[in-house]
Order: sequence, then structure tokens, then C-alpha cells
Amino acid sequence: MVKLNRREFGRLVGGAGVAALSPVLFGHVAIAQGAAKIVIVGGGAGGATVARVLKSEDPQLDVTIVEERVIYTTCFNSNHYLGGFRTFASLQHSYDGLKELGITVVNDRAEDVDAAKRTVRLKSGGTLNYDRLVLSPGIGFKYDAIEGYSVQAAERMPHAWIAGSQTVLLKQQLEAMEDGGVVVMTVPGNPYRCPPGPYERVCMIANYLKTSKPKSKLVVYDAKMTFSKQALFEDAFRKYYEGIIDLNLTNEIDDFKVVRVDPKTMEVVTAAGIKMKASVANIIPPQKAGEIAQRAGCTEGDWCPVDPARFTSTKVENVYVLGDSSIAAEMPKSAFSANSQAKAVASDILAEVAHKKRFPPRYRNTCWSLLAADDSIKIGANYAPAEKDGKGYLKASGGFISQREETAVVRHKNFEESVAWYQAIILDAFNDKIDKPVKG
Ligand SMILES: Cc1cc2nc3c(=O)[nH]c(=O)nc-3n(C[C@H](O)[C@H](O)[C@H](O)COP(=O)(O)OP(=O)(O)OC[C@H]3O[C@@H](n4cnc5c(N)ncnc54)[C@H](O)[C@@H]3O)c2cc1C
Repeated sequence: MVKLNRREFGRLVGGAGVAALSPVLFGHVAIAQGAAKIVIVGGGAGGATVARVLKSEDPQLDVTIVEERVIYTTCFNSNHYLGGFRTFASLQHSYDGLKELGITVVNDRAEDVDAAKRTVRLKSGGTLNYDRLVLSPGIGFKYDAIEGYSVQAAERMPHAWIAGSQTVLLKQQLEAMEDGGVVVMTVPGNPYRCPPGPYERVCMIANYLKTSKPKSKLVVYDAKMTFSKQALFEDAFRKYYEGIIDLNLTNEIDDFKVVRVDPKTMEVVTAAGIKMKASVANIIPPQKAGEIAQRAGCTEGDWCPVDPARFTSTKVENVYVLGDSSIAAEMPKSAFSANSQAKAVASDILAEVAHKKRFPPRYRNTCWSLLAADDSIKIGANYAPAEKDGKGYLKASGGFISQREETAVVRHKNFEESVAWYQAIILDAFNDKIDKPVKG
């Protein structure tokens, strides 16, 4: 390929034309002079996959992940740890596999983005230049939506909705609780990370209480009227955990959205005015896009609008936003979705900067939920870009969901599938071949 420097390119298109060129064309000129620089903020399910695919498909690309954590702890399957079905170590993954592929991993926090200069400012003071920026920073919490809740309050009343020390804290609190204690869990309204996640957690905490603290109760206050896989979960609540779970869904009379908490007294208060003193309080607050997405100017309200065919930001040029931070409805916010979106993002970047063939995006999601030992259910669908009221979205098709009254063999097979999926996504995203024991 003939490489032109900026002056030669200017001569070809005419001096005045250079200044008038679109940023995309300028991007190509800068890229033609050396390896294209792709900076990815967030080395989780979405970001790590983008990096792994880009570098595998084109080793010449200069791919950098900015990730504030040295070890990534998966939220997915973290409920299994709470239920006693997984070790904590089995949820943890390093970036060594990605480094082996030649990906640069900068363990730092991205503080800001200058879209005009195409730079990312790091907490340590450094700056990274990019040709294309990918943001997959996951979620932030709307602490102010619940009076009394804060980063500090979460040290007494953990959310455990970003896995890591919060997950360990919740487990320790459950283990330290006396038999006969009351665990209170609060669930936000839509949209939030992992729609069926709270109800899988209900099963896993109830499983722990049933086996270790049988006189205890789990009280759930939910801001919603209905939830994902509801009939299947409610069957499991009755079949396995009768007398342990007290599920309170918002209805025409009572609003069970939690509005106030007091970490000193461990009191939880709902919009309907119900007060409950908790022995252990798992407060899952309302959520929004990871903070850097807002700083980069990519948010509209709480989340980031994107072109559903490419996951490019509709607000900031040369920036992609994927995973939980993006508005990708009808796709749910899940690791499976983020991994699927990452393939489309990588393909688009390869077409843009490395002139590879552009493939039409194919999106898919499956979410498994563990109800009890060997009993797992699933829901899933395919998604394609579509338009409604002049706005792009991802239209679901070919949806499937586990049936009620399925045989134990089917449910066991679902569980095996979910374990195989976990191993596959970890290899796909982190180039990490799992050798840690799943069970404790
Ligand atoms: C309890 C629970 C159970 C779940 N179970 C499932 C499941 O079974 N299946 C499933 O598919 N999904 C599941 N999920 C959802 C899944 O974990 C998320 O949807 C997925 O991780 C989203 O990927 P992401 O790349 O958007 O964000 P993340 O995976 O959270 O990655 C974001 C990364 O960005 C980093 N970061 C953020 N801001 C910055 C910054 N400014 N600078 C540097 N780094 C930054 C963070 O440290 C983090 O590592 C579950 C979630 C929970 C809470």
C-alpha cells in the first residue's frame, strides 16, 4: 500500500481541501503514517473482548486498554459464590493473557477525554492519543436516588453490583449474621445491569440461609411490578425456599422502591413508608453509565445513545460506547451482550482503520440463572438494528426461554451450558484459560 504523509496527501486533494476534510478522512491520513492507535477504556466483558479481537485480527494495530483494576472480578457468576457454588478465586482474571498478545494494559483511571484533540487524560497525569476510542466502563451508581446511601454507606450496606471487595463483604456479612437474622435486598427499576441478576441472587442467598441459617429470612423490596423470568423464579422460590423469601413487588397499592436507608441503624425505608431493620442489607441502587462516558460527552440522561449497527456514539465522533453504558435496548445489559457488541465494534474498527471487510453485525444474548444445585434456567434472543419513531434500536427475534416444569435433566444441561459459556467468554475476552476450581 502506498503511504502518503500529510503534506503529500494535501497536494493530492488541494491545500484548501485538507482543512475541509472530514475528521474521518483525517483519521485515515494519520493512521496511514503508522499503526492505528486504538484506546479502550474499561477492560471488562466489553472492552477486553474488543482488544482481544482487534489484536488477533490485525497484530499491527496499536491497542491499549486503560483499566483501573489490576484483576478483573466477574459479576457474572458472582451470585454463585454467594450461594456456595463457586470460589471467589474462580471469578478473578488477570490481564496477562491480553499482554501476551501484545496489547498494552495501562493500570490507571481515565479521568477525561478531549474529543477534539483525540486524547485521554489519565489519573496519573499522562495522556494517551487515539485514532479511535472505545468506552466500555460499565456502570456507575445513582447514590443520591436513595437518601442516606453513599460510597461510605455501601461499606455497611453493600450493593455487590460491581464484583470484588463488595461481593466478599456481602458474603462475610451473611456468614457473620446470627441464625434468625433478616437479610433485606432492594432492587431498582429498569434499566439496570443484568435484569435477572437480583432474582438469581435471591435464590443463592436463600440457598445459603436454608443450608446454614434456617431460621433466617430474606425480605426483597422491588421497585418494579414484574421482572425477567418471573414465573420460573417464583416456581423456584416456592419449590426450594418456601418460608424463607418474602418478595415484595411494587403494585397498585404499595410502592416498594427503597427511598431511604440508615447505615447506623440498618433501617431500610420504602416509598410506601414501610420500615425494616436489617441484619444484613444488600442495597442495589439505580444505575447509570460509567462516569468517564459522561465526562467524554457521550451521555444523554443516564446512558449513552449509539448507532445500533456500529455502537459508535451518536454524540462524539471517533468514539464507540458498548456494554452496560450504552443504550442498546432491546438487548439487556449483560456480559453476553457486551461480548457480542464487542465483535461488531472490532469489526467496524478493522474496516475503518485497517480496511478489512465490513461484516453486518450479528448480536445475540443468553442469560442463565442458577436456582438451586444443578437447576439452571435460561432466556435469550438474537438482535438486529431497526428503527422506531425515527430512532435506532436493536430488535429482538428468535427469543427463547426455559419452560416451567422442565425435567431435572434439562435443568442440569442448562447448568453445564452456563459453566461452558463462562469458560468460553473468559477465553474470548481475556485470553485466560481457566484452571481455577469452580467449586469451593
Ligand atoms: C450479580 C450479577 C450477576 C450477573 N450475571 C450475569 C450473567 O450470568 N450473564 C451475563 O451475561 N451477565 C451477567 N451480569 C452482567 C455483566 O456483569 C455486565 O453486564 C458486564 O460485565 C458488562 O460489561 P461492560 O464491559 O459494560 O462492563 P464491566 O464488565 O463492568 O467492565 C467495565 C470495566 O471498566 C473499568 N473502568 C470503569 N471506568 C474506568 C475508568 N474511568 N478508567 C479505567 N477503567 C475504568 C472497570 O474497572 C471495569 O473493569 C451480572 C451482573 C451482576 C451484577
